[in-house]
Order: sequence, then C-alpha cells, then structure tokens
Amino acid sequence: MALIVHKYGGTSMGSTERIRNVAKRVAKWARAGHQMVVVPSAMSGETNRLLGLAKELQPARADEAVQRELDMLASTGEQVSVGLLALALQAEGVPAVSYAGWQVPVRTNSAYTKARIESIDDARVRKDLQAGKVVIITGFQGVDDQGHITTLGRGGSDTSAVAVAAALKAAECLIYTDVDGVYTTDPRVVPEARRLSTISFEEMLEMASMGSKVLQIRSVEFAGKYQVPLRVLSSFTPWDIAIEEEATSGTLITFEEDEKMEQAVVSGIAFNRDEAKISILGVPDRPGIAYQILGAVADANIEVDVIIQNVSHDGKTDFSFTVHRNDYARTVDVLKTKVVPSLGTDRIEGDTRICKVSIVGIGMRSHVGIASRMFRALSEEGINIQMISTSEIKTSVVIDEKYMELAVRALHRAFDLDQPAA
Ligand code: ADP
Ligand code: ASP
Ligand code: MG
Repeated sequence: MALIVHKYGGTSMGSTERIRNVAKRVAKWARAGHQMVVVPSAMSGETNRLLGLAKELQPARADEAVQRELDMLASTGEQVSVGLLALALQAEGVPAVSYAGWQVPVRTNSAYTKARIESIDDARVRKDLQAGKVVIITGFQGVDDQGHITTLGRGGSDTSAVAVAAALKAAECLIYTDVDGVYTTDPRVVPEARRLSTISFEEMLEMASMGSKVLQIRSVEFAGKYQVPLRVLSSFTPWDIAIEEEATSGTLITFEEDEKMEQAVVSGIAFNRDEAKISILGVPDRPGIAYQILGAVADANIEVDVIIQNVSHDGKTDFSFTVHRNDYARTVDVLKTKVVPSLGTDRIEGDTRICKVSIVGIGMRSHVGIASRMFRALSEEGINIQMISTSEIKTSVVIDEKYMELAVRALHRAFDLDQPAA
C-alpha cells in the first residue's frame, strides 16, 4: 500500500463520460489499498473559453487589478472538475472529498497568472486519507497570503500535482494525459516520433523549458528538487487494465543516468512558437550597451531569452534578442521610450513570425560535432538560421516560423530518432 498522486489533464477530464472513466481508474487503485490523491485540470477548452470571455470585456489592460480577476475567473475551471470527479467517485461507491487550492491550502506568492507554490499544508489531506477517502485537489490554483486566488500559469496542473506529491512524500506521481508518454518530439508534428520508456530529469527539464508542453517546466523542477518519482502515461488505456501493467507503462523520469541513456546523443527535439525577435541596428559598440538595452527590459519585468550581438563595423553593431510574444509590444515600447533616445539610433526591427527549435540530449556533453550535424540538416532543407544558443545538453536555433515543422522533421531524421533505440 502506498500514497499515490494521479494528475488528469483537460482532455482526460473532457466530458462526464471521461470523468466517469477517471473515477473508475482511481477507484481501482483505491480498492487495491492505495491512499489516493487526485489533481485534475479543467475540462478541455474550458480555461481558453474563460480567458476568451475575459478578453471580450477587457482586451487591453494587463495591470495587477486585471490579472487578479483573470485568476479568479480561470481557476473556476478546476473547481468544476474536482466537484464532478468527487461525485463520480462517490457514485462508484468510493468515499471522496474535493478541495479548492485555498482550502488545502496551497500557498503561493502573489504573481497572478504565474504564481509560484511556496508551501502546501498536508494536515487536512492526511486526515481524509486516514479516514479512507480519496482526496481531490484542484490543479492550477493556489492562494496568496492575503487570501487572493492565484493560478500557476498555463499547464500548471502538472506543477500542482508534483508539488502535492512532494508535500505528501508520495511514493509516485502519475501524470495521465492524452499521449502515452514522453516522445522524441511532439507526435502531433512528427508521426514517426517514438515514445521514450525513460528520460533523464535533466533532459526532461530542458525539453520542457524549450517548449515541450507535455509537462510544465515547474513540475519538472519540483520533481528534481524533492526527488518525486514521476511518470507520464495515457489516460486512454482501458480503465480496468492490471495495476502492475499500468504502473510500468508510459515514460519514467529518471534521476540517475544509466548507460543505455548515454548512448543516445540526442534524445529529443523541442520547439516553441511563443517568442518574438527584436533587433536594434547601428548601436554604438562600447562598454555598457548590452546593459543599457537589456537593463531597461529587465526593469520592465520582461524575460529575455536568446541574445546575439554582431561583430562591429566602424564602431557600430547590431543587437538582437528574443522575448515572449505576449511581451513583444511592451518591449518595443520600452526600447522606444527608455533606450533609443540615448543610443543614437532608432532603427528597431521586430519579427513575431519566428520559432525556436532545440535538440536536447545528455549525450551532447561527451560528443563533438552535434551542433554542426544540426546545422547541416537545416541547410540541406534550405532553412536559414537567424540565431543560435547552446548549453551543455542542448542547441537551439531561431528560424522562420513557416519552416518549423520541416525543421523538426529533418532533425528527427538526422539524429535517427525515428529508429528504435539500440
Ligand atoms: P494535458 O491536458 O493532459 O495536460 P497537454 O496538452 O498539456 O495535456 O500535454 C500533452 C500534449 O503535449 C500531447 O498531446 C502532445 O501533443 C504534446 N507534446 C509536446 N511535446 C511532446 C513530447 N515530446 N512527447 C509527448 N507529447 C508532447
Ligand atoms: N487548466 C489550465 C490550463 O489550461 C491548467 C492545466 O491544464 O494544467 O492551462
Ligand atoms: Mg498540460
């Protein structure tokens, strides 16, 4: 008997029929003697629908007062889910109780729409578990120290589940979703993508941060920090398959690098269409310029990702960087009002139609020539690379958005990811 956390994503909770299936699956685990905590997302499409309504009424502003109400609104999707799932479990004859984030409580900071979990009180949950109940906790939401409801950013239910598992020292956190594990790349883009039976924590972290939305990056960070055993698996297998089979299916995130994993130089390909590129042309090439530009951007609380500065000619250079597309207009505004007046140039160019494609693998540490293989594969497809950034276990390129799928497929082939692992 163990304490297990299950997380069910939006598609898995998408209708009463599917919720009944989730209840049957959870009931199977509970009847086998496990203490069960379940963290569901809002029903599929619901968070988008709610945020769409908000946009109809308040399209322009994004200040704190607005963000607070967005969280108040968006968090309701998960409240519907927990109530329905508790009812479905009770209908199966399994005692169950549901809680919103503030009732647990799941405490977060006050950064509305992207709050971070600070602590989770396990007392109430443990009491219910001891009383033999399945406990269902809303994904995605928490409460700040003033009692305001917060949300954890899109895809945040993954993080709720892993954080709950860490707080309860659960034996395992199982992330049930609409694919049967973590693949070499998004199987919706590359049908030949293969499921990985294991992926190292570091690779998963890099894949998530480079755009693979199968797990929210903060959930992977939590799993690493608290060493939570984490598995991604399908919610669409028949609910009554043997628990032993279910518990070993999907993809396990591992914390030790085994030899087999070392063999694959590149384990996966991630991509991200959420960024925009901004260039300032003809910037004077002198100490302090990067700080002058990016300092002002940072002061506006805008995160910068890839940065390049060209070799200078005649004491002038071009400076480019990427930001999240949602921050694009604000960044240009900051540059125009706070930066260019003192730079001696006002040539700002922007491009929102870019994407970033990354190859990820811990094998890159010990192999040379991986980046050049990547660049060759892209050049053979006639794809121009606009920016490059690397870390120990990944290489990313920024390219024209229209070549994204072509690039991902070409790289998938170039690194033999469609071939079964040796
Ligand atoms: P959920 O609603 O269950 O949280 P998400 O839509 O957030 O589901 O995440 C699952 C989706 O992630 C899959 O349907 C798939 O399209 C996408 N995805 C992106 N990259 C990968 C990958 N490397 N492996 C598996 N799925 C991926
Ligand atoms: N419902 C939230 C979203 O759509 C959280 C989640 O699904 O993980 O982003
Ligand atoms: Mg998700």
